[in-house]
Amino acid sequence: MNPNKKGLNTICTHVGELEDLVYKGAVSPLYMGTSYAFEDVDVKRYPRYFNTPNQEALCIKIAALEHAESALIFSSGMAAVSTALMAFLKAGDHIVLQKTLYGGTYNLVTEEFQKFGISYSFTDGLGASDFEDKVQSNTKVIYIETPSNPLLTITDLKAVAKVAKKHGLVSMIDNTFASPVNQNPIDFGIDVVIHSATKYMGGHSDICAGAVASSADNMNRIFHLAKNFGGSLSEYTVWLLERSIKTMGIRVKAQNENAQRMAEYLHRHNDIHKVYYPGLKSHPDHELAKAQMLGFGGMLSFELDKSLDATQFQKHLKLIKSSMSLAGLESMVLSPTKTSHSLLSPEERHRQGIADGLIRFSVGIEEPEDLMADIEQALEGVRSKKMTISH
Ligand SMILES: *Cc1c(COP(=O)(O)O)cnc(C)c1O
Repeated sequence: MNPNKKGLNTICTHVGELEDLVYKGAVSPLYMGTSYAFEDVDVKRYPRYFNTPNQEALCIKIAALEHAESALIFSSGMAAVSTALMAFLKAGDHIVLQKTLYGGTYNLVTEEFQKFGISYSFTDGLGASDFEDKVQSNTKVIYIETPSNPLLTITDLKAVAKVAKKHGLVSMIDNTFASPVNQNPIDFGIDVVIHSATKYMGGHSDICAGAVASSADNMNRIFHLAKNFGGSLSEYTVWLLERSIKTMGIRVKAQNENAQRMAEYLHRHNDIHKVYYPGLKSHPDHELAKAQMLGFGGMLSFELDKSLDATQFQKHLKLIKSSMSLAGLESMVLSPTKTSHSLLSPEERHRQGIADGLIRFSVGIEEPEDLMADIEQALEGVRSKKMTISH
């Protein structure tokens, strides 16, 4: 049986599951053991070897979801990112990174790489030539993130994979924002796919985990570093994550639909200056997103009309909470200027197109009408406040 041949929701529900042969329970039994008697002299099962029964089962599911030969699960998204990167980089090497990256990844590169003797370049733009321009004779890895945070820009997967192949580099993507439901980068020639499973894979704002999927050879290389770095995930959380992924297909599709509805509503709204969502025809990369994504995702960003205070707006929201994370069933907003991108200088934020009043919106599964009503009452609150101040 080739697990990759199954459809999305069947993979989510069944692939890799451990059969309960004793009691015939419907879900994978949870094996908390850290010690397993040798089956053979060289088969050692141990949590930090990433090969306990529940880890192995979930890795099969994640590999199938990303159309990969193999996968590993980590204790956080950053454990996945750092282990995948360091598996392919050593002192004297160079990496080309997309200019807009998740804050944690940006910090890892800019705060840590120098002491390992690894040099790096960020691209100036997001076109394939922007990546090729930065390739040096010692470059080993190209690293991208699409859709990006917080402006939902789209990077051309096929074009970047082609640049990497031409120069013999490993291409890596942080596929967190899309989730495996909306984007399978390996189909477009990308080598290594990374997820913060804290986001859509977990989906309920109660799990911190990461995942990497790639060819068997690449995963073997990543595994050998992973067991030394030690970022494995506890068995109970592995088991919870398997449970969460069962509903990932239906959750993310509901979030896609809601985000499209909310993006169109905000786009039409007189109080909203600008909306960033790849599912809108007005998005500059809409056609590219259509070509490489199966759905446009649950993340969008918007700017209020310049006369309205974005901080006050956030404070007036009731149903939609201001929160640091994303991708949960609950709708959440945050101000990139005040949180994820607060360490960048105002000039750098401006250069990246991040307006001070920008609001990032992680759309949940609530009824869109209720989300719209919450936004209307918050806008009303901000408008009346403005009037009391100006009179
Ligand atoms: C959250 C996130 C990460 C880091 O994941 P953690 O689970 O917090 O370590 C990496 N990339 C993206 C795009 C994220 O949103």
